[in-house]
Amino acid sequence: MILWGWRTTVRHLATVAYLCGQTGQQAGYAVLKRVTKFTLFFIPLFPLSVKHTLECSLCGETRKISREDADQIIAGQAQAAQTHHQQHPQYR
Ligand SMILES: [Zn+2]
Repeated sequence: MILWGWRTTVRHLATVAYLCGQTGQQAGYAVLKRVTKFTLFFIPLFPLSVKHTLECSLCGETRKISREDADQIIAGQAQAAQTHHQQHPQYR
């Protein structure tokens, strides 16, 4: 008997500030990466599909984005965080 199936793992890559399309309010979007892997005897072998999505914290709207979009959003957020950090020097 061969036991096979698939397993989806969701990785939370980042949370970004975004304007919600449904409510028009500033919301937090979770950048998620969903990887569905083919499993044999419960061992993940190879990815069947990789999806990047934005999930709104206000209305729960899920938007599909490309990998490039996800990279850009995360990179932009990292830059903003750095700028913010520079405005607040650390006290020793
Ligand atoms: Zn929303």
